[in-house]
Amino acid sequence: MASCVLIVEDNPTNLKLASEVLENAGFRVIRAVDSEQAQLALRQERPDLILMDIALPGMDGLALTRRLRADPSFGTIPIVALTAFAMKGDDQKALEAGCSGYITKPIQVRELAGQVRSFLLSTVQPRKAP
Ligand code: MN
Repeated sequence: MASCVLIVEDNPTNLKLASEVLENAGFRVIRAVDSEQAQLALRQERPDLILMDIALPGMDGLALTRRLRADPSFGTIPIVALTAFAMKGDDQKALEAGCSGYITKPIQVRELAGQVRSFLLSTVQPRKAP
């Protein structure tokens, strides 16, 4: 069965690009443009991996990641931050918030599917409650 990836990204161009690249690579993709939509989607199903933009309107990707990590159902799901190359320090903040790793934007069309596959293979250690 195809692995399912939830992409949380408010930039329509990036969302479309990432979705199409992953769908072409055989993934099933759920799209969300903000944290609220992401949380609604997560009530319906549990993706195999979440690609999480950091800069989102309303609750940002770091806050959503912390919230998901505090929930036992999502404690071990790979959450991969999408960080803007220019935003120095976002990568570290993403790891501190509980992300498993990060992918730097702009999205590399030829690399994205491989990056997602390697994160799917890595196991996430459950975090101790703070
Ligand atoms: Mn954004």
